[in-house]
Amino acid sequence: MSHHVPTTGFVLSLIGGIFVLLGGLALAYVETILSAFGFGFILGGLAIVGLLVGVLIIVFAILLYVMPQMKVAWGALIIVLSIVSWPFALGGFFVGFLLALIGGILAIVYKPPVVAPMMGQPMMGQPMMGQPMGAPPPAACPACGGQVNPQTRTCMSCGRMV
Ligand SMILES: [Zn+2]
Repeated sequence: MSHHVPTTGFVLSLIGGIFVLLGGLALAYVETILSAFGFGFILGGLAIVGLLVGVLIIVFAILLYVMPQMKVAWGALIIVLSIVSWPFALGGFFVGFLLALIGGILAIVYKPPVVAPMMGQPMMGQPMMGQPMGAPPPAACPACGGQVNPQTRTCMSCGRMV
């Protein structure tokens, strides 16, 4: 993968958004029944907002995947929408709220793996900082006598590891 994506946050937010959408649909269904009996004013279009909230959570989850460098913004929006989903989409039957909430938090706290070349020294079993691993490489290649690159520990003539 070329860029590092908070995959778990993305998946949880996406599924959460789908549940919130289902919650909005359920509320829309209830609203339709109430309207049929002349009581449509009771919910007064809550479900439309609920459906919008579900769609937005899904959109922000997808943005989290395609623009992970803005993960904090997407995560925060997903968290806000998960809370908003309570009055407008029954909290996505609670499951949607919970998944989107956790997904948003995971997106914000996600730390991409460090790939900085300056930190290439392995940490394990090497308490001495700046000390090369194992014995120092020989000055000349034992196979062909060529010059050895001390950084990569390879012969510059034949490429052999020394
Ligand atoms: Zn060599």
